[in-house]
Amino acid sequence: MVAALLLAEVGTPMAVTEVELRPLGPTDVRVRMAAAGVCHSDLSLARGVLRQRVPAVLGHEGAGVVADVGAEVTGLSAGDQVMLVWAPPCRGCWFCRAGEPWLCERALDAADQPYATLDDAAVYPGLGTASFGAETVVPARAVLPLPPDLPLDTAALLGCAVLTGFGAVHNTATVRRGDSVLVMGLGGVGLAAVQGARIAGASPLLAVDPDADKRALAVRLGADAAWAPGDGLAAEVRGLTGGRGVDVAVECVGRATTIRSAWSLTRRGGHTVVVGIGGRADTVTWSALELFHFGRTLSGCVYGSTDPDRDVPRLIEQVRSGALDLAALVTRRIRLDEVESALDDMAEGRGARALVVF
Ligand SMILES: [Zn+2]
Ligand SMILES: [Zn+2]
Repeated sequence: MVAALLLAEVGTPMAVTEVELRPLGPTDVRVRMAAAGVCHSDLSLARGVLRQRVPAVLGHEGAGVVADVGAEVTGLSAGDQVMLVWAPPCRGCWFCRAGEPWLCERALDAADQPYATLDDAAVYPGLGTASFGAETVVPARAVLPLPPDLPLDTAALLGCAVLTGFGAVHNTATVRRGDSVLVMGLGGVGLAAVQGARIAGASPLLAVDPDADKRALAVRLGADAAWAPGDGLAAEVRGLTGGRGVDVAVECVGRATTIRSAWSLTRRGGHTVVVGIGGRADTVTWSALELFHFGRTLSGCVYGSTDPDRDVPRLIEQVRSGALDLAALVTRRIRLDEVESALDDMAEGRGARALVVF
């Protein structure tokens, strides 16, 4: 039995309970968690904005130590430091073979497979990983090795916030040195995008968030200016971009209003990247004329258009060189039974990443 944070019903508070992990299959890995980040998707899954089978244990951004491996698992053994990948590519489907593994048709297969039981009833792992528990069982392809010298607590953030935010800038938008970049929404993903843009050489690098503390953090992490959304924003951005707007705007909120705002702050011919996950009923509209006139590219961004096998080693190099500051993204360290209050903070827009430390 292991302690885990159980979501019994969507829309009800989660509570720490004991679950029985499923027996280790031949291609499974059991991981003892060291830390797990609290992501906006956890909020959406817990409150019913995104679909979640229940009962479930959420959490999909984690790092820990391998406790045991199945008989057919190669390249991993007990004691290895690892991180979890919530959308592990299968390498066999059409998208994987086309070089777009972030769109893998089987990436979320594990989310529909019970990973544990509670009183003999199936318990499902949120996004296939269930990192809000002292231990979890995942398919081996959802586990990536980390070097033994990397601090495990902050390495947890690599698996969602950093792969997504950094990837949005480097993979989806392919930001080049000297490109002007605006990041809208400064949670864990947005602040990772800010750092990714600084590393890419973005100039000017601009940031937008209603929360003054998060704006100050963005400036500390390399933004040249940060503003609250509002009436003066467009004039400020145009004032720093020759009146044109930015080359690349990265929207990390997932609301119609902020998507429209990011689009409007993008220059003619520029690129607006939507990273935030919005609701089904939140409709964004464009006139047919403006789509033609502005000549902008509007793209969605799933999991930072990342290939984790390729990008995680690159991110680790950035962490080791000191260019990528993972600890700066963590604004609160909590216990498992404090995740609900971290979700409340997130719903109110307070703080960047809360990190469960086991
Ligand atoms: Zn996430
Ligand atoms: Zn695939």
